[in-house]
Amino acid sequence: MIRLQLGAVIILNVLLMNNKLYIISTPIGNLKDITLRAIETLKDVDFIACEDTRVSSVLLKHYGISKELISINAANESSKIEFVLNKINSGKSCALMSDAGTPGISDPGVRLISSAIKSGIDLIPIPGVTAAITALTISGLPSDSFLFEGFLPQKKGRQKKLQSLIDEDRTIILYESTYRIEKLLRELSEYMPDRYIVVCRELTKKFEEVWRGTTLYLLNSIKDKTLKGEFVIVISPKNWVIKV
Ligand code: SAM
Repeated sequence: MIRLQLGAVIILNVLLMNNKLYIISTPIGNLKDITLRAIETLKDVDFIACEDTRVSSVLLKHYGISKELISINAANESSKIEFVLNKINSGKSCALMSDAGTPGISDPGVRLISSAIKSGIDLIPIPGVTAAITALTISGLPSDSFLFEGFLPQKKGRQKKLQSLIDEDRTIILYESTYRIEKLLRELSEYMPDRYIVVCRELTKKFEEVWRGTTLYLLNSIKDKTLKGEFVIVISPKNWVIKV
């Protein structure tokens, strides 16, 4: 009897998941930063659309999950979107995950999501970690209103964008990689030398570090710092002063 009931629950669950696309947030470093619901959903879906199968396999293996993986990234998005949507429309359930954090946040995913909406597929968010919000929560800077800019343009439009941030009166959040962090700190100290910033390196990982100070101060102390890893830079609003 109990076995029969369990079987019915499993069948019902599968039926409920059919034709759905689950948007799943995954850790940004520490593998424990994932919700129970995310793990359950990854276990239950028919297949997983991810950025790089090798990166996602590390997390999936850690949680004992073995699934069909379909790589969907900036380079192959156009050809893969239709394939993934056809599979979902044929009655399958799919989880979308990126290499780290929340899909679509400075990561691929938005095109698949908007195409899924157009074709009438149900979207289910499974919320979790985003590097931007993780950094904002420890910045101590105003968080009731903020501007998330992600990565600044690498070449064309970069100076214009920096110029536009000078008068920004909300907290600004930027993403930067190990390759350009020094360049970015140099530019910030040029465009807004007195602005207070919080540089978060390798959040949730073994070498997590947080540096706080004016752009000019942090640039001057750069020689004492490790510039390897992933960075979020949180910039104070214009005219903001520390209140203690
Ligand atoms: N989808 C991710 C999210 O939800 O935050 C962002 C992916 S984006 C391709 C990668 C960038 O996010 C890195 O270059 C860095 O700026 C930021 N980032 C991701 N993980 C981080 C971490 N553990 N510590 C600091 N920054 C991180």
